[in-house]
Amino acid sequence: MFAGASGGDVTGSKHLIMVNGKKILLDCGMFQGKRDEADQKNMNFPFDPKEIDAVVLSHAHIDHSGNLPILVKQGFTGPIFCTHATRDLCNYMLLDSAYIQEREIEWLLKKKKYRTGKSELPEPLYTIVDAENTLKLFHSVSYEKSFIVEDGVVASFYDAGHILGSALTHLIIHDKEKDKRTTLCYTGDLGRRGLAILRDPQGIPPTDILLTETTYGNRLHSALQTVEEDLAVIVNQVAERGGKLIIPAFALERSQEVIYYLNLLLKKGKIPSIPIYLDSPLAGNVTEVFRSHPECFDKETYNDFLSGGKSPFDSLELHYTRSVEESKALNEKSGSMVIISASGMCEHGRIVHHLKNNIEDPKNIVLIVGYQAAYTLGRKLVQGDKQVNIFGDPYDVKASIYVMDAFSAHADRSDLLEYIDRIDGLKKIFLIHGEKSQREAFEEALIANNFENIYLPEFQEVVDIDL
Ligand SMILES: [Zn+2]
Repeated sequence: MFAGASGGDVTGSKHLIMVNGKKILLDCGMFQGKRDEADQKNMNFPFDPKEIDAVVLSHAHIDHSGNLPILVKQGFTGPIFCTHATRDLCNYMLLDSAYIQEREIEWLLKKKKYRTGKSELPEPLYTIVDAENTLKLFHSVSYEKSFIVEDGVVASFYDAGHILGSALTHLIIHDKEKDKRTTLCYTGDLGRRGLAILRDPQGIPPTDILLTETTYGNRLHSALQTVEEDLAVIVNQVAERGGKLIIPAFALERSQEVIYYLNLLLKKGKIPSIPIYLDSPLAGNVTEVFRSHPECFDKETYNDFLSGGKSPFDSLELHYTRSVEESKALNEKSGSMVIISASGMCEHGRIVHHLKNNIEDPKNIVLIVGYQAAYTLGRKLVQGDKQVNIFGDPYDVKASIYVMDAFSAHADRSDLLEYIDRIDGLKKIFLIHGEKSQREAFEEALIANNFENIYLPEFQEVVDIDL
């Protein structure tokens, strides 16, 4: 059953495999979007969580892992299989997500209708205790090592090259009633070749059935080679102006990639030695997880840093700010500097304060390196709005706004086609995790490349896989 990230959705990834009387869930992601609608979908699974025997988790992004605590809260007690790095990342990501849920309820309490008891205060979707209970169920496995998920189902993870620890899940399924064997691969989110730090997406063994993401099924990204040069130009510009470079970045992966490139440019002497601040406690914690998983790094990271006894996440210029006081103190500092902070779409967190304090100064530069959803402050900056509202007050946008879209961690149309073309034995392809236009355009692209038997499942659709 396709229980999320299907029918044109890109969030809430959940795919249920039913075989030999067992139920195995691939991912348990959170639906994101309009709050009430998303909450309803997150709380009401189209199956009974108590009946799920095991979960196989592709990676730590919240739209793939974030609903696990609700699954557990509603009675799931089985194992959650994932890679070692995904387990360590979820440790921070799920606790942070629970913290946000709890804080949102505190924030609602300030509204009159809840304070006066006129309306009933909703419960948080899950609490830190629910997240902690979930983390106890994690079983981590190395890449390329087979493991038994349930009777008749053997799985192996292959590096998806999307974020640290991300995996393609390859399953060998033995339907005992029919005495038939089928192989199935779920891409999770597929990365791109040449991403900083990460290895390229790994090939998989022969596969009958593919469940593939199609986030950018109709898009081609800018070349990655330009990232280093473009970033150097921008840092040099801000240093000449004596201004601040503000980079809103997601705490997981994008922040580490930006740090990697800045450290590389410093090492090569291509940018001046100005202070760089990573001002996000979550990004700091996630960077610690990166440090402890060098086995996931690519050859370039080894050659550029590790072989010389250096770390891609440390330099004399780089400072990790943890406390609120340290973060506030950045406002008082003068001179050129780089500030990397979350949230990635400028909607909450410390980045909003940095934008408030710096957006009206033409010496400064704001660099957008990630996707900005409609109506977010980040999107308004990308659109070129001359005035934006921050904490309810209007601010003139006088800082320069630059956008770099080459950072994307998702395969584009040609990456997806190329990857699928290399898979042996494909008999059927299910297109998931893509908006309507992306999925449909990618279906056409597959047909034009002589692929057959392509299916676009609807939300909650049950498909009988009988080849
Ligand atoms: Zn992802």
